[in-house]
Amino acid sequence: MPDSCVICAKHRGTGPLVGPVVWAGELVVVSHRPGAFPGYLFVETRRHVANLDGLTEAEALGVARAAWVAARALRAELEPESVHSAMAGRGLARAHFHQHVFVRHRGTPGELGWMDVDWPGAPRVDLDLLCGRLSAHFAG
Ligand SMILES: [Zn+2]
Repeated sequence: MPDSCVICAKHRGTGPLVGPVVWAGELVVVSHRPGAFPGYLFVETRRHVANLDGLTEAEALGVARAAWVAARALRAELEPESVHSAMAGRGLARAHFHQHVFVRHRGTPGELGWMDVDWPGAPRVDLDLLCGRLSAHFAG
């Protein structure tokens, strides 16, 4: 758990990436991206490990299930045009495994790329209420 890792910091509740936690398991945490855009989740290992190939089998299975539940929860709660996912491993948080699971809302301008999801007319909702509804999908 290096002090310099922004995702480890997030799991301690500090730093620029802290957002509402949707579900927290023994190996995996699901949280919503901070900011106004609704429907952008991160699936992260608790353990500081950089890439998919570095996960244990248990972590990989936990990540897969969490991403699947997250996608179904987003579909059910937001009725988006589509739900996308990516494991890129680039940018600010590249040293700690994280999988993006996010919606493309209906009405998103066609010229926006598939990972460029927010625009001035994008829907806005109460994120804490949304995350509470998303959390319910992880029960059981
Ligand atoms: Zn880390």
